[in-house]
Amino acid sequence: MAYDLELLGVGKTYADGTVAVSDFDLKVEQGEFVAFLGPSGCGKSTTLRMIAGFEDITHGKVLMKGKNVTRVPPEKRPSSMIFQNYALFPHMTVRENIGFGLEVKGMAAAERKRKVDRILDMFDLAAYADRKADRLSGGQRQRIALARGLVVEPEVLLLDEPLGALDANLRRIIQNELKLLQRELGITFIFVTHAQSEALGLSDRVVVMSNGVVEQISPPRELYRRPLTPFVAGFIGSNTVIEGRAMGAAGDGFARIDTPLGVIQGVGGGTETLAAIPAEAFRIAPLNTPGEIHLPGTLSSRHLVGAVGHLRVRLADAREIAVEVQADRPEVQALMPGAALTLGVDPASVTLIQA
Ligand code: ADP
Repeated sequence: MAYDLELLGVGKTYADGTVAVSDFDLKVEQGEFVAFLGPSGCGKSTTLRMIAGFEDITHGKVLMKGKNVTRVPPEKRPSSMIFQNYALFPHMTVRENIGFGLEVKGMAAAERKRKVDRILDMFDLAAYADRKADRLSGGQRQRIALARGLVVEPEVLLLDEPLGALDANLRRIIQNELKLLQRELGITFIFVTHAQSEALGLSDRVVVMSNGVVEQISPPRELYRRPLTPFVAGFIGSNTVIEGRAMGAAGDGFARIDTPLGVIQGVGGGTETLAAIPAEAFRIAPLNTPGEIHLPGTLSSRHLVGAVGHLRVRLADAREIAVEVQADRPEVQALMPGAALTLGVDPASVTLIQA
């Protein structure tokens, strides 16, 4: 079966010479929720606009349902896009805004009305159908933008930071609705965001981008547990990254690197020179099990926030790292700033990364 969306070596260089995206490869299954995540300017929106057809592609191909759409105009692609500012026509009514895409596609008035009525019902917007779009709240505008994107029954819905304009409360509510809606409709969603929690919380897979390049494509949990590049280790979650010299793999299934803090074992092939340790992987009471990594340090500070204890620990090389532990453990309760301690780490939770 064909993928809903395939990007094959897609790249974009703007007229002024800015290389916004290079060599982007991605295959998306039907019904998948994929987030593009990365800092501002890394090329997320450019990629989304190339998928939608609003931006010329400098090199590579875009396929939808197995069909090459690289040179197909936006309204002829089986996709629709929701813009960051919603791009509603302020002086058109809700009904006119939602029906606009169907009109562009040349749909007859009676069928258009039927489809618009159905989606107005679905989004609880019937009461506002004849109100002008500029007379609505942020949340209502957001729903209209979604309704307008979905009324054309796309195979792929492209969303460019769709929740960026909402306040935190509404954002959470609409995040939930969005996720439920996507499951219910089974439509493929490609969602652009610079908010880590949004990407990790909503999507089946996350594409992490930096400087126009895809760094890693993984399900949220794996991205968190197994960063594959130094950028991802620094960007996702809270990792301590320790540099060293590759020592190869050993019989216990772990590879090793020699660092100024001692030898560190972890999951890798044996040629890596960096170790990434998630903040949650540290224990402050080492179990003295064979193979456990031990790092001596001094507690700089301790903040207990609900169930989580946020510690700052100064290691032997003077760097201060973030450690997250269960707040209710007696050994955590007993810790005082200035205390010497030994952090223990299970090598299975350490990822070795190529520099
Ligand atoms: P993001 O969505 O991740 O914030 P963009 O895709 O908007 O990133 O931008 C990627 C890069 O391309 C940035 O360096 C940005 O300045 C540049 N860029 C975006 N649009 C244009 C344009 N129309 N002309 C020239 N450069 C652009």
